[in-house]
Amino acid sequence: AAVNGAAAAKAEVGRATWTLLHTLAAQFPDRPTRQQQRDARTLVDCLTRIYPCGDCARHFAELVRRNPPIVSSGPAFRRWLCQMHNRVNARLGKALFNCDLVESRWAPLGCSLAEAAAGEEVVGE
Ligand code: FAD
Repeated sequence: AAVNGAAAAKAEVGRATWTLLHTLAAQFPDRPTRQQQRDARTLVDCLTRIYPCGDCARHFAELVRRNPPIVSSGPAFRRWLCQMHNRVNARLGKALFNCDLVESRWAPLGCSLAEAAAGEEVVGE
């Protein structure tokens, strides 16, 4: 039961993380600022080290090393993320997701993005 509990928690964290990443990507701007591009790369990079499942983190690190994040635009980032998720799906024996449908599966929340960092224009609601 403890083992099943651990497996369930691992799946739950996986779903939660994919939800965060795909939702964030759904809202990633068509023309991201340099800071936003850096932030997306950094987020992915951090997951390759501190994702709370060591094996997952190691495999993901290898995947990202061979396929560095593409953060030049929202559509490009969404496609890259969908492809990485599919690599993980394949490894786990799960069905592959049709990446043409990613924008209908994962919608933006409709909240505006915070404008990060000094020196970048702050846009009101
Ligand atoms: P998830 O894979 O969690 O997907 C959630 C939902 O996303 C799906 O229901 C579907 O609607 C949608 N979806 C599926 N594929 C895509 C796609 N390609 N693009 C967009 N949307 C999609 N688990 C392990 O056991 N071993 C690992 O090595 C491992 N590595 C992981 C690495 C990372 C970076 C992450 C975030 C998770 C990892 N996981 C790993 C967890 C695993 O990927 C799943 O999250 C978990 O098994 C639960 O799967 P699920 O079937 O509920 O759907």
